[in-house]
Amino acid sequence: MYYDYHIHTGFSSDGRMELRQACAAAIAKDVVEIAVTDHLDIDYPDSSIEFDLDYTLYSDAIDRARESFGNKISIIKGIEIGVQPHVIKECVDYLEDKDFQFIIASVHAVKKMDLHNGEFCANRTKKETYFEYLQEVYRCVDGFSRFNVLGHIDLIRRYGDYRDRSLRYPDYSDILDEIFRLLISTGRGLEINTSGFRYNLSSTMPDFDLIKRYRELGGEILTIGSDAHTPSQVAERFPQALDIARSAGFRYISRFSDGNPEFVKI
Ligand SMILES: [Zn+2]
Ligand SMILES: [Zn+2]
Repeated sequence: MYYDYHIHTGFSSDGRMELRQACAAAIAKDVVEIAVTDHLDIDYPDSSIEFDLDYTLYSDAIDRARESFGNKISIIKGIEIGVQPHVIKECVDYLEDKDFQFIIASVHAVKKMDLHNGEFCANRTKKETYFEYLQEVYRCVDGFSRFNVLGHIDLIRRYGDYRDRSLRYPDYSDILDEIFRLLISTGRGLEINTSGFRYNLSSTMPDFDLIKRYRELGGEILTIGSDAHTPSQVAERFPQALDIARSAGFRYISRFSDGNPEFVKI
């Protein structure tokens, strides 16, 4: 029985899967609950990509999917909101009158630079790039509180043109501890994102040692998400992710139906 808490559908501009396909794929893979988390990225630096989310259409589509699949799978209405320090107020305003059951906050851009096109990573050492990225993550977690879990905390690993793209805990321990402590003390959590395997990172995002450290510091809220954009990616590598969570000291993962975590034994 799996809970896939990070799924993109046709409502994300990079989504290639219809919600009903996601539901069918999830049911076939023993997933009992999915959180649909389509993108909202306000002022995304690459203007060729529109990460807008029409809440009414989105909400209606989820209601319809519940009518079709509700007896086989639970569908949580979530969002992955891209945070940048200069758009925090707009993020808060957008969420103000919306009824999301689960919110992932993700940092997809740093200092108004897209991570995806390599601009941010260019002409810098890995250490400088990763440190600056984590500082931006800290600023976002500090300035924006309206979310349940921080998405793919080490996303930067996907984008640098470095031979070794690992982000090892000892190299960034101070800033990582600050981020973890801030999440923990404010009732927010972390996700294990299994798409790292898909992007040749040979691990989940984050890797085991960061998850272990988050747990050591008292972290309890943890979701597992595939970041699926296609049916075959739904719940991908979930047995492995659960093993990682258990090895890191977790006995429970979290699910959300009303914004508060409920703990599910693993
Ligand atoms: Zn993301
Ligand atoms: Zn995503």
